[in-house]
Amino acid sequence: MVNVAVIIPAGGSGKRLGGVLPKQFLRLGDTPILVASVRVFERLPEVREVVVVAPAAYVTRTTRLLKRARLRKVSCVIAGGRERQDSVRLGLEHLSAAPDVILVHDAVRPLVTAQMIRGVMMAAKKYGAAVVGVPVKDTIKLEGKKGFYTKTLPRHLLWAVQTPQGFLFPLFRHAHVKAAAAGVIGTDDAALVERLGVPVRIVQGEQRNMKITTKADLALARAWWRKNR
Ligand code: C5P
Repeated sequence: MVNVAVIIPAGGSGKRLGGVLPKQFLRLGDTPILVASVRVFERLPEVREVVVVAPAAYVTRTTRLLKRARLRKVSCVIAGGRERQDSVRLGLEHLSAAPDVILVHDAVRPLVTAQMIRGVMMAAKKYGAAVVGVPVKDTIKLEGKKGFYTKTLPRHLLWAVQTPQGFLFPLFRHAHVKAAAAGVIGTDDAALVERLGVPVRIVQGEQRNMKITTKADLALARAWWRKNR
């Protein structure tokens, strides 16, 4: 069985969606979004440990929340960094042992499924790097002069990439070291591996695995949660 560790970046305090708490602490029914996300990983036997990266001011609150939810595979809760990439790197530094495969999953994607995780896990083991993605629905344009676009990208080749993203552990560690040395900041984890010339396998995901970013996303996630409980 493949030995897997998970990093959950829940560090940024980001947009508050109207409340006082960062969005990873808002609830779907009775369940905080962060707890819902971690739980899906915790239930998979391949997952040995989960490192949760919290906003610096919320480490105690996060630790308490995860304890109360009896999430036993969480090996530590640490304070995040300035960028998401910094938070993931800090997570890497706090793993208790080297896994075969490392998965990274945004705390604010609680509707991830075991099937998506397994798909990424297996593809990462086989190909070195894998992400969950969905074909884009909109036509995407490339901006040239501010406010004007110059180019239409071929939609049939475009994917909206989500998390989980998975990597063979030595490759991912190497990609982080290289990115830090070059001062590169990626908006996702796969970007750091891509720039080393490694092709990344796409595993078909689902729209519901959205990143809860707006109030509309939160309403949609809550509706889905109610319907499926
Ligand atoms: O900011 P963005 O929407 O890309 O955040 C995606 C995930 O990364 C969220 O779960 C957020 O909590 C986390 N994050 C982090 N550290 C940061 C910024 C974001 O762990 N400095």
